[in-house]
Order: sequence, then C-alpha cells, then structure tokens
Amino acid sequence: SEVSTSSPILPGDWLGMIGGGQLGRMFCHAAQSMGYKVAVLDPDEYSPAGAVADMHIRAGYEDPDGLARLAARCKAVTTEFENVPARSLAILAEASSVSPSAAAVAIVQDRISEKAFIVKTGVPVAPHVAIRHADDIRAAPPELFPGILKVARLGYDGKGQARVKTREEALAAFAEFQSAECVLEAMLPLDSELSVVLARGMDGRTVVFPSARNEHRDGILAISTVDAVSAATPQAVAAADAAVAIAQALEYVGVLCVEFFILRDGSLVANEIAPRPHNSGHYTMNACVSSQFEQQARAMAGMPLGNAGCHMSAIMLNILGDLWFDAATGAKREPDWRRVLAVPGAKLHLYGKADARPGRKMGHVNIVAATMAQAEAAAAEVAGALG
Ligand code: ADP
Ligand code: MG
Repeated sequence: SEVSTSSPILPGDWLGMIGGGQLGRMFCHAAQSMGYKVAVLDPDEYSPAGAVADMHIRAGYEDPDGLARLAARCKAVTTEFENVPARSLAILAEASSVSPSAAAVAIVQDRISEKAFIVKTGVPVAPHVAIRHADDIRAAPPELFPGILKVARLGYDGKGQARVKTREEALAAFAEFQSAECVLEAMLPLDSELSVVLARGMDGRTVVFPSARNEHRDGILAISTVDAVSAATPQAVAAADAAVAIAQALEYVGVLCVEFFILRDGSLVANEIAPRPHNSGHYTMNACVSSQFEQQARAMAGMPLGNAGCHMSAIMLNILGDLWFDAATGAKREPDWRRVLAVPGAKLHLYGKADARPGRKMGHVNIVAATMAQAEAAAAEVAGALG
C-alpha cells in the first residue's frame, strides 16, 4: 500500500516494532523520549525491547493474530532485524504504514538478490556466484578460491559462513549447510572495513551519518571508530554516495546500513545491506545530535529527519558475553562497571540480557572526546576496565 506523506504520526501515538532484540530496545528508548508509545511484537517473554516497550505483544513474527493486534494499535510499523518474513510486512501494510517496505526487505534478506541489486546500482561487489546445487560449486570459476561460502539467508555475525580454500572444501561446507542456497565469493585482500548508516524519509530526503571504520573479531563487530578525518577520506565519501544511491534505488524509507570493504589497492566494494539501524551506528547515540534510532522513529512517523552531524570523535566498543568469564580460569565474573563509568567520555549501554554467553552481544560503550587521540586513550582505559 502507498505510504502517505501528508499526515505525520504525532507524539502520543503508537509506533510498532517487529522484533524484541537490543536494536528494538534502543528504538523504544528513542521513540519514547519524543513522546511516542511503542508496541513490540516478539515471542520471547524476556526480550530486551519487550521489557521497555509500552506494550509487548507476545506472538511469533508470522502469527496472524499478533500481526493483527500490532496493526490495530500502530499506525506505523518497522522492524529491527532483516529476517522478518517479508510476507508479514506485506500483511501489516494493508492496515498500517510499513517501513522499510516488504519489497526492500525481501531484496536484502537474500544475499543473491542483494548482490544483484547492488550491482545494478553501479556499485562494485566481490566476485561471486550463486550456489543452488553442488554442481554450481563444481562450475565456479577458479578465481573464487580461496573464497567464502555464505548461506544466502539468515546468516549474521559470521554465522552461516565457511572460509574455503579449495573447491573440495566448498563442497564439504555446502553439505554442512544442508545444501541451503549460498553465495560463493572470492576472499578479498581487505585493507579495512567501513559502513555507512543513513536515514531516508517518506519524502525521499536522505541524511547520512559519518561513516564508521569497523574492526571485527571472529566475524563479530568489535570496534567502530568515527571522526571528521576518517569520514572525509575519498573512500568514505564514495561509500556515502554509493549508500545513498542504493537507498534511492530501493525507494527505501527508514534507516539503512551498507557495509563496505576497502581493498589493499584502495578500491571500494559493497559487502551487504542491513535494512535497519546497525551495530556500527551505535556511536550516533552519543556523538550525533539525532541517533540512528531517533531517525528510525522520525522516518516511520513521516516526521522531518534529524541532524546527522557528528561533532565529536567517537569510538564504540562492543561488550560481548565473553567478558562475564575469566579468560584464564573460565570462572563467572561481572565486568567492573564502576571502572568503566569512571572513564571520562564513556557512555555505557547494556541491553538487559540476563544470561551472558560467549559471542552474545550484551551491550556497548561509546567513548566520545574532542579529539581522536583523547578518544583512543579513553577507549584503552575502558578496554582495560572491561578486562
Ligand atoms: P555477516 O552477515 O555475518 O555480517 P559478512 O558478509 O558481513 O556477514 O561477513 C562478516 C565478516 O567477514 C566481514 O565483516 C569481513 O570481515 C569478513 N568477510 C566477509 N566477506 C569477505 C570477503 N569476500 N573477503 C574478505 N573478508 C570477508
Ligand atoms: Mg556483515
């Protein structure tokens, strides 16, 4: 259905969120601070977002009754994860304004259609082929080895991926993935990784946050770094332009992230699109006038977007569940929050998850300072305090 630009949803009214994870939780906080009420749809009794929402509809993402209750309550609905069934978004769109659209989410939730779409906008991606049968691996060009086999759907944080040196290893990995559709892409020589988070409103206006430099550990984002210098490199500027082109081509409404690789020869390659706020955009909560979550609320409500400018140097450190276990003995412990909070410029964000597990995202710390040198010194103190 058509999204109306004429009548914005006003504070005091209800916004709907599909998904109860940390991104939904931080959306709730941002929307509520502008006076909106938020209803969260999530099957889990103890979800991070459900715990802070004004209303928690405990139902599955495809449950017709749950979707009907969400649509009845909320004039606008959005999502916090890309694997929401696109069909559920289509059903909701019959009664509510849904952003991003089911069509946009459907494209980016499948790596095969996602890569094809990016290529169509003229932005380079890694050399790759779609793998639907083992024969596609046997026929893959030799340049794709060594490569990475990635399941086309439902992968995240490095899950559903296998690094394969040879065709034989790719065949074995494909079997391990139960022959689920995959893309096989060449392992690229990365210099660094960056990401662009942007918001696009119903009127097509777009605001772009300064791009973040990202460091991953074990396939999971560990650190994002942002300042005026890093956001003004030729690659960062090209990445911002590419992300805007992709958002426009998707006719996207809401917050979107595009992850990029910078190769050792300096060239830029788009990796993947997230149709939602992104872990690498968490720095915006403290370094920018309007955070990525505030932009998500503004965009879905048909309100003007906020200022995406960043006037500080910022470093975001992810807090994984590993920190609850002593590295040497494996004994359970609690990170020293007092020491973290004692660091100037450190802002602690915890997601309210009860059980810490290795690899689980429990929270993050944003460190903001006037200069990157100061931010780096403070980030080292925070890292030390976290253990
Ligand atoms: P996820 O959905 O798990 O985030 P990504 O495609 O972003 O999957 O891959 C996770 C990480 O693996 C990337 O951030 C990057 O560090 C590395 N990676 C992925 N694809 C490639 C590639 N083609 N060449 C080199 N490194 C890659
Ligand atoms: Mg990724």
